[in-house]
Amino acid sequence: MSTNPPDLRPDIAPKPRMGEPARAGQPTIGMVSLGCPKALVDSERILTRLRAEGYAISPDYAGADAVIVNTCGFLDSAKAESLSAIGEALTENGRVIVTGCLGAEPEYITGAHPKVLAVTGPHQYEQVLDAVHVAVPPSPDPFVDLLPARGVSLTPRHFSYLKISEGCNHKCKFCIIPDMRGRLQSRPAHAVVREAAKLVEGGVRELLVISQDTSAYGVDIRHAEERGHRAHITDLARDLGSLGAWVRLHYVYPYPHVRQLIPLMSEGLVLPYLDIPFQHAHPEVLRRMARPAAAAKTLDEIAAWRDVCPDLTLRSTFIVGYPGETEAEFQTLLDWLDEAQLDRVGCFQYENVDGARSNALPDHVAAEVKQDRWDRFMAKAQAISAAKLAAKTGRRIEVIVDEVDDEAATCRTQADAPEIDGNLFIDEDFSSLKPGDIVTVEVEEASEYDLWGRVVD
Ligand code: SF4
Repeated sequence: MSTNPPDLRPDIAPKPRMGEPARAGQPTIGMVSLGCPKALVDSERILTRLRAEGYAISPDYAGADAVIVNTCGFLDSAKAESLSAIGEALTENGRVIVTGCLGAEPEYITGAHPKVLAVTGPHQYEQVLDAVHVAVPPSPDPFVDLLPARGVSLTPRHFSYLKISEGCNHKCKFCIIPDMRGRLQSRPAHAVVREAAKLVEGGVRELLVISQDTSAYGVDIRHAEERGHRAHITDLARDLGSLGAWVRLHYVYPYPHVRQLIPLMSEGLVLPYLDIPFQHAHPEVLRRMARPAAAAKTLDEIAAWRDVCPDLTLRSTFIVGYPGETEAEFQTLLDWLDEAQLDRVGCFQYENVDGARSNALPDHVAAEVKQDRWDRFMAKAQAISAAKLAAKTGRRIEVIVDEVDDEAATCRTQADAPEIDGNLFIDEDFSSLKPGDIVTVEVEEASEYDLWGRVVD
């Protein structure tokens, strides 16, 4: 494989799933949602508001009066993909409103596509809605335009992303998100819990907690307590865990207080799953990256977490070929991975991103060296994953059903986040299953990334 595979790219989002067809004469909007799960949450919010205002949502270009393109600007390749998505929407529909991360650079967009109707930046919901109102005036029908209980979702009904904060207080040198999205802004805990409770009432069985830095949740509002809910990740995780759905934590940095989350996992309140973007293991590389918690003794932390919760699944992403990365530093990363035995791993070859401070660092790594390190890293990660999954055969575990078709039920175990991790397939006696069911299976077979099993309850 010569490049980062699409399923490991954070800037490629799940495909939108749209609701019911438009009535005759109903103003209709299309949405192309690029980017990470956080951008997907923004798209959901915009669509929820539009649905509440009486707009229909079109799953294709032809049925839409205008199309919103929610863009990603994280990597140069993602920017190029965003420009090409805007171009496609212009060709296919002609009336295009651009929002999202790339909207922070309007001239970049209008330079390439002068015919776009409007450009708004990340999280400028009101401005996007204003642009839609101008392009396609609303025509609400009070009898039928009731907002569904859980709003409009681009994810299947049984799982939903839950954004708890926006922005980031760090300044990692390869990242321009703080420039685009600003400093950390946490949502009040009571608002997050209320949204989560509504989602669960509406049928959601799995909540995926996302932010740029989940461990830092509430720091900006001094962990304020309001209406009985404190804005601290430990308290929030406990509050969310009491709602009865699976709760999965993404983008958690290994700060010391993460230890307090682990008992909640062994108690079953929160899934025993941590998505921690380690990015590297060599302290010098982490320092050159200006990573948060760069000095953390991560192997000791991991061992301490596993002592408390032996079933903990750890997922992470890494960057190989960061400027100045020596062979010895890369070897430290490989050795670290051997010891850390992470369950799920994604890896990127370092790329310059316009505006990132790492572009100016000396000693950029040659493309073929990056590729070689990526191959070696992924081979090791794959071998670890295969051994870990093979050890699951014969075990009985809970899975959530995502999809059922003629051939199999596609499910996930507690160790698998949607879109980024593996699956468990049930290809016999699955006809009574439906998406959102949580059932116990016995694992019968394993590959590098996926499992197969049969229902036993
Ligand atoms: S922690 Fe670093 S990589 Fe993550 S959003 Fe903040 S600056 Fe970017």
